[in-house]
Amino acid sequence: MTTVLVYNRTTERMERYYLENGDAMPYVPERRLTVAEFRGSSKANVVWTDKRFMETFAAFRRYYGRPIPVGFAFKRIWEGGHGNQSQHYAGSAFDCGQTLTAARRRGMWNSAVAFGGWSYVEPQRLTPTWVHFDKRLGPPACSSGGYITVRYGSRGVYVLIMQDALNALGYTGGGLDGIFGQGTLSSLRRFQRDAGLAADGISGCQTWRTLTAAAVGIGKTPTVID
Ligand SMILES: [Zn+2]
Repeated sequence: MTTVLVYNRTTERMERYYLENGDAMPYVPERRLTVAEFRGSSKANVVWTDKRFMETFAAFRRYYGRPIPVGFAFKRIWEGGHGNQSQHYAGSAFDCGQTLTAARRRGMWNSAVAFGGWSYVEPQRLTPTWVHFDKRLGPPACSSGGYITVRYGSRGVYVLIMQDALNALGYTGGGLDGIFGQGTLSSLRRFQRDAGLAADGISGCQTWRTLTAAAVGIGKTPTVID
């Protein structure tokens, strides 16, 4: 059983689903993306995404018109496997087509670019044996890329990444609910102080860089909330 958190911007609620690996991901009809495909090799009991990411995947599947074999989509930040700006930690990036022929993959890549709904389709020379595309929800805090700025009152997947990183590093108190409230604010301030950053309680460029660099790939710690 996996807890799947899906942020719904319309209601501003984090929806909570309890699903098996063979179940369809919410908002992707006809089992065109299963929980098993979404989680890939992640062993986490809690995974997350945003309704807009799932709807974009469903729309792309219709546009492309063929099955999309997904190797994996999601990873928790402490599981690592990607850099510290990866959209895989947000549940908004897909690595697909590992089982297809090179010609089929090229077709999928062309289709992903032409579709226009993805924020980024990785050039094929960087991912010769799979196709990576992802969706982002706003301008990154750093000009070099990464996550959007989150602050008190923010909600959604980027708050989940921050809470997950803080928890893994022992700055617990904010929970793992995607809602930036008082507990999350004081956890973030404690981290900022210890890291020698301005303790403004806002995760902008410098704080994201420091926090994610500290948390990526450290493995499941006793303070991880799952
Ligand atoms: Zn990828």
